[in-house]
Amino acid sequence: MSEETLSFQTEVARLLRLMVNSVYSDKEVFLRELISNASDACDKARYLSITEPAILGDDPDFKVHIKVDTVARTLSLSDNGIGMDRDTLISDLGTIARSGTSAFMENLSGDATKDMQMIGQFGVGFYSVFMVADKVEVTSRRVGDDAAWIWTSDGLGEFTIAEAERAGRGTTIVIHLKEGEDEWLEANKLQGVVKKYSDHIALPILLSIDEAEETAANAASAIWSRPKSEITDEQYTEFYHHVGHAMDDPWLTIHYKAEGKIEYTGLLFVPTRRPFDLFDPARRHAVKLYVRRVFITDEAEGLIPSYLRFLRGIVDSEDLPLNISREMLQTSPVMRHMNQAVTRRVLTELGKKADKEPKAYAEFWENFGSVLKEGLYEDQERQTELLELVRFRSTAGDDLVSLKDYVGRMQKGQEAIYYITGDDLQTLENSPHLEGFRARGVEVLLLSDPVDDFWLSAVFEYDSHALTSATRGAMDLSSLGEEPAKDEAEEAEPIGDSELATLIALVKQTLGEAVKDVRATGRLTDSAVCLVADDGDMDMRLERMLKAHNQLNTDSVRILEINPKHALIKNMASAATKGGAADDMADLAHLLLDQARIIEGEALPDPAAFSRRMATVMAKATG
Ligand code: ADP
Repeated sequence: MSEETLSFQTEVARLLRLMVNSVYSDKEVFLRELISNASDACDKARYLSITEPAILGDDPDFKVHIKVDTVARTLSLSDNGIGMDRDTLISDLGTIARSGTSAFMENLSGDATKDMQMIGQFGVGFYSVFMVADKVEVTSRRVGDDAAWIWTSDGLGEFTIAEAERAGRGTTIVIHLKEGEDEWLEANKLQGVVKKYSDHIALPILLSIDEAEETAANAASAIWSRPKSEITDEQYTEFYHHVGHAMDDPWLTIHYKAEGKIEYTGLLFVPTRRPFDLFDPARRHAVKLYVRRVFITDEAEGLIPSYLRFLRGIVDSEDLPLNISREMLQTSPVMRHMNQAVTRRVLTELGKKADKEPKAYAEFWENFGSVLKEGLYEDQERQTELLELVRFRSTAGDDLVSLKDYVGRMQKGQEAIYYITGDDLQTLENSPHLEGFRARGVEVLLLSDPVDDFWLSAVFEYDSHALTSATRGAMDLSSLGEEPAKDEAEEAEPIGDSELATLIALVKQTLGEAVKDVRATGRLTDSAVCLVADDGDMDMRLERMLKAHNQLNTDSVRILEINPKHALIKNMASAATKGGAADDMADLAHLLLDQARIIEGEALPDPAAFSRRMATVMAKATG
């Protein structure tokens, strides 16, 4: 087949423009990216050879060769990994197949340094070669194929593909260096960069300049199999960059060997920054599974629970058979045990960090708290453990609080842990439902994360204290906390019981089916009214959310609570008792309900009627 010219996918072309014109100072990362790809390709071939040993032929040892030709000014990297066939070359080196690519590209800021950091996080490694190259040739032969293919590009929008020759399986990348990039022809420079970025790679990397003899450029042993004392922070960070496709530093590194019923090594990282696909609907974790140093898969579903999907790193089992199939993985008891053990370990380490370094933990919480909270309803077994790790905003101040802090601060007579849910903190803080709690010094947790509604339906108590919504059910605050300071006017003219009863009866009659009940409340201090959900009814916010997502099309009827200490209620009560004009009273009753709806963030069912009544009342007030 003759040579064919193809265009890069739009996103790739944009990315390449960034690379070609890069002013990025860390150009050396291109080498790390290419070695990383070569290492992954060898891992895949090694895994395949477990079931198909013949694919290795007379070339059983996996290696990467880096060769320099100082005359031609080229640098080449050659691996004997899985290789790519024609279609794979076109798709893998012509598009970015990941979900979220377009959205990601749109987020680029135009600031080259920042964009490069984002790109690193996105893991578009191969294209970084165009930071130093003005032409790249990739010759590859897929395991088991006779044909080889050559992919060529100058990184300017197009690439060509043609049939080629290659002695065995694997991939060779020839990099024609740009003017001014001659440092990549020097042994010391290459040696230094390989050592810095790829020492942890379990694959020998051999270096030769022109016809000189090859020298080993890395330690070539899996980093996790080395003793912790021999691994520097920089090496851990490099490995994290490699396995996690990340550019940030690990926020937490967990490296341990488990011995006993099941044996495995874990080298796990919690990132400092949110990986871009954290909220991808697939909720896949990214931890790689190895068996006795052989890479098995990065899609071992049962290895890590979804609510720990921010983890990066590897788990290397001593117990699983090397030739384990995907199907077997799903049902393997060893996998289940490892999942449990890894989860336990990670939660313990997070707990330690939370205790010892609350400030650092707060940063973790901002990034990954909403993911971890998914565990509260997905992993009932660990609910208690997870509840210790959860942090909240509360009415007590700006700091994050734990449930333990909360319980330690409970007021006299307080049994329950109170919370309120809503769309944002600001609205929550201003909610009338909190007035009575504030007046009595009772702390309320402010929950504004969409995931909160889900776990709240699965968690009922902490340390024998019921989690109780501040917007649901009858709330008798009178025995709670400090007695609030009494208002003088209120003392002087308390509302009479019968007046209150008359008003309530009138409002109830006027509003009819629109409310479930009307009752007096101690929940409010400054506001006249609020809506609450009845004890057994759905939380108001959850209902709004489900409706917004078309998962619910019925309305629960709410209870209207009125504040007997509020001047408006007092005036209305006395007017009702004196037999005020029926029309006026009806308008006021409707306005009370609409007002409560507005504060609650609910849409008014009849805005025209609201505005008509409002105008009537305003006309009277100004007339
Ligand atoms: P990433 O490594 O993040 O997937 P890259 O752009 O670096 O992104 O590579 C894209 C894909 O090209 C890889 O996922 C792999 O499938 C393929 N690839 C790159 N280099 C090699 C190689 N040396 N051998 C085999 N496949 C490779």
